[in-house]
Amino acid sequence: MNVLGKYKSVVSARSTDKEILKASQDGGIVTSLFAYALEQGIIDGAVLAGPSSRPWQPQPFVATTRAELLKARGTKYNICPQISMLKEATRSYGLDKVGIVGVPCQIQATRKAQLYPIGMRDVPDKIALVVGIYCMEVFPYKGMQLIVEDHAGQKLQSVKKMEIGKGKFTVITERGNVTQLPLKVTHKYEQPGCHVCLDYVANTADVSTGSVGSPDGWSTVFVRSRIGEDVWGKAMAAGCFETKPIDQVKPGLEMVTKLATEKITKNQKTVDERAHFGVGKALRNPYI
Ligand code: SF4
Repeated sequence: MNVLGKYKSVVSARSTDKEILKASQDGGIVTSLFAYALEQGIIDGAVLAGPSSRPWQPQPFVATTRAELLKARGTKYNICPQISMLKEATRSYGLDKVGIVGVPCQIQATRKAQLYPIGMRDVPDKIALVVGIYCMEVFPYKGMQLIVEDHAGQKLQSVKKMEIGKGKFTVITERGNVTQLPLKVTHKYEQPGCHVCLDYVANTADVSTGSVGSPDGWSTVFVRSRIGEDVWGKAMAAGCFETKPIDQVKPGLEMVTKLATEKITKNQKTVDERAHFGVGKALRNPYI
């Protein structure tokens, strides 16, 4: 089973841009790559998950400057409908070269929109760079609020960072208070659709990235397509990233493979059970 999808190269990397790294979730890969692409005219804007009027509730927005890109740093772990802004980016913002970042299901939706552009007339050719982020599950906003406020005992507005890793959901406040919850506490709040999701590492992105597999403060980066290879290669040559061979870092690709296998095996079981009861078709990830 090839749970990591097709890729041309994989490295452990982090941004060399201190301003980007300061508030990024891990290695600042997405922000740095889009900042470089914007500066070089590879994209003229990007659809991202940005802040809204409610703490930790992301809303999709279009960034056309570096300053706007910086507003979207950090992982939010709840639903943000970026795809709804894709057409808007080409119409209201007049973008001809759009970047988009999303979790694997959103990257699949982007690729479907390129193949079957129903309701997306004139959009497919304008999608210039697709960046995926690893995803095990997300939470609806209410669920996130209950996790943070009821279980972790923190006000959402006081939270500086949230992390999922090493079997724990970690909440870090602005004052440096750290609360860790075992994932068995947070499971019941997960979005049910995530339980039939068969992609962990955004197999269909140009470049996909996440913290898993790399040391703290670094990210594991898969370069998957010709476009990804071109943009990543140029960004590397411009000094945007420092990298280490993936086989020289801990925990390495083995950990990415382990988590991807766990997600796909567990969710495939749910897909098959549902199909057995006549709910949906027995899907398979075509990349495996
Ligand atoms: S687990 Fe899958 S369906 Fe759920 S948000 Fe992540 S990519 Fe989307």
